[in-house]
Formats: sequence, structure tokens, C-alpha cells
Amino acid sequence: MKSLKELIRPNIYALTPYSSARDEYKGRQASVFLDANENPYDTQVNRYPDPLQTGIKEKISGIRGVSSDRIFLGNGSDEAIDLMYRIFCIPGTDNVVAMEPTYGMYRVCADINDTEYRAIVTDESFQPDIDEMLAHTDEHTKLMFFCSPNNPSGNLIGREKLLKALDTFQGIVIIDEAYIDFADCGSMTGLLSEYPNLVVLQTFSKAWGMAGIRLGMAFASPEIISMMNRVKYPYNINILTQRAALEQLSSPEKVEGWVKEIVSERSRMAESLAKIDICRTIFPSDANFLLVRFDNASEVYDFLSERGVIVRNRSRITLCGNSLRLTIGTPQENDVLLSCLSEYAEK
Ligand code: PMP
Repeated sequence: MKSLKELIRPNIYALTPYSSARDEYKGRQASVFLDANENPYDTQVNRYPDPLQTGIKEKISGIRGVSSDRIFLGNGSDEAIDLMYRIFCIPGTDNVVAMEPTYGMYRVCADINDTEYRAIVTDESFQPDIDEMLAHTDEHTKLMFFCSPNNPSGNLIGREKLLKALDTFQGIVIIDEAYIDFADCGSMTGLLSEYPNLVVLQTFSKAWGMAGIRLGMAFASPEIISMMNRVKYPYNINILTQRAALEQLSSPEKVEGWVKEIVSERSRMAESLAKIDICRTIFPSDANFLLVRFDNASEVYDFLSERGVIVRNRSRITLCGNSLRLTIGTPQENDVLLSCLSEYAEK
């Protein structure tokens, strides 16, 4: 790996970050806060939130087994994705390499940050060819994106492939694990101390059931995390989000229960869909959705939406022709979907 000094944009490396009132006051006992120009009257939200979200990070650290100085929290993992570009990619000069098809925000953030996006198509089972990805890097390639389990295909990326990228690529390897809780394997966060070029993304939006509060996690070396903290907006995680996350983190067993049910529903759905003859291919999934190929996906999509069932049409995505992405819902919701598809099949 190149040094962080070589990889980080020079203006970011030299940045003097904003110092907020709550950064400067740290930890000492205090009862009179006249430092941040807040309204003193209690509205439950009249005070600025903790800029570094210490309480939440301690809880995540306990659950995920990663030390707090290796954790960044953002306004969704989308914030962490954008920060990767803002920290590492010189607009108009640098580029990134990513597997294709994958989550769309890597490309959108590249476009926003005027960074060339080199998409390397996977094989038919959605596994990336690492040698080909490496062959598309040059001295301006700063980031390499993987998504495992991948969206929209649902498959895990082979661990040996990710290790090869980590061992060989000279820049930062980002592994987006938004759906890892539904997978039959552990997180790559266990490799953080071995690989200073590894950034793992996770989110509260999926298994944790909190898409509405917008909270994402990045796990990386303390040096990368500190850079992310310097560049982020000072109070990027609002106080309502922090409270809701702390509460949810106190009952991880609830999340485990949901995950178990969703994973078992995923198997039931895969088996039931296989019996409906319009479902040509049901791609194997380690996530909370199934990618399914039909003969005429757009017609099926319209049929479902006329009945109030909304799925995601992924037909225009590379390698996903005629495919719909079906999120696993409650058993009742899944039954509604199955009966609509059977009705379509019998037409
Ligand atoms: N990564 C992947 C792979 C996703 O599918 C999504 C959301 N669909 C995200 C990240 C965004 O997560 P968040 O809600 O934390 O911004």
C-alpha cells in the first residue's frame, strides 16, 4: 500500500479542521454551558449532539469487536462513500475501480466528485475478476469498491478474491457490507489490523431496522477514521438519531430475531418462487432480497404494482436483464407477492 500521505488529497492532508464548541470542551464536569450559542431552554433538542458520538461507538465496539478509534459514523453509509472521494480523489485527475453491477452510489459519488469511475463487469455469477480490476488501475487509482453481499445480485464475493485485492492494490479497498448480517459468514472487520488499506462499510438501515434515522458505519485504521472525522460536518449525526441508535443497540437480541426470520423467509421464498414457472432464475442470495429473472420483467413489474406490490426493476442493470429485485418482507407480505406472481403465471 502507498502511504496515506501519497493517497490523500494534499489539501485534505493539510486541512485545519473546524473546531466545534463541544470538541474543545471534553469530559470535564460541567453544568453551565455557555459555549455554543444554544438556546438554554429545554426542548429535548436544544443542545448540539456529541460530534464524535462516543456512546454509540462504545456500544458498537462491544457488539462488533472493533475498537472505537476504528469506527466512523455517518449520515447513512452514503456519507462514508462520499467522504472516501472527498478525502482521496483529486477531482479531474484521480480514478476509482469498481465491480459492476453493484450499488449505484459509488458511481454517483464519483460523478459528483469529478472522478473517473472504471466499472469492471463481473462474471455471470456476479464474481469480480480481481486481475482484470487490477489491470485497470494506474498511478491515479485511489479506491477499489466491492460490495459483499452484492446489491443487486445478493451474492457474497469470494474471500480469497477480496484478500487478493487487499494484498495487491496500492490504494484503499472499500468493502461494503450493508447486508452482512444476513450472510452465512463473518465480517471482514477482523482483518482491519492486518490491512491498513481496508475500509469496511456497514449500516443501521438493513438488519438493524433503522433506515429512517440515517446512520451508517465505516470501520478502518485509526488514521483513516481520524481523516474522516476531520472532513465530515462537525455535527453530522443529529441528537434524535443518536438517541434512537443507542436504544436499539441496547437490544441486539431483537435484531437477531428479525435476521433469523428474514433469512428463513428468504429460503422459503426461493423455494416457492422456484415452483412458479415464470421465475426463470433465482440467484443465490446472502442478503435480505432475491434477484429473480423472468421472461418479461417489466410486464411482471407492472402487474405487481397494479396490485400495490412494489419491487425493484433491475432490468437495465448490467447482467441483470429481465430481473426484479425482491426484498424479503414479513411472511404475510411475502405471501401477497407469491400469490400475485402465481396469478400472473396462470394468466
Ligand atoms: N450500501 C449498499 C450496498 C446499499 O444497498 C445501500 C442502500 N440500499 C447502502 C449502502 C446505503 O445505506 P445507507 O442507508 O446506510 O446510506
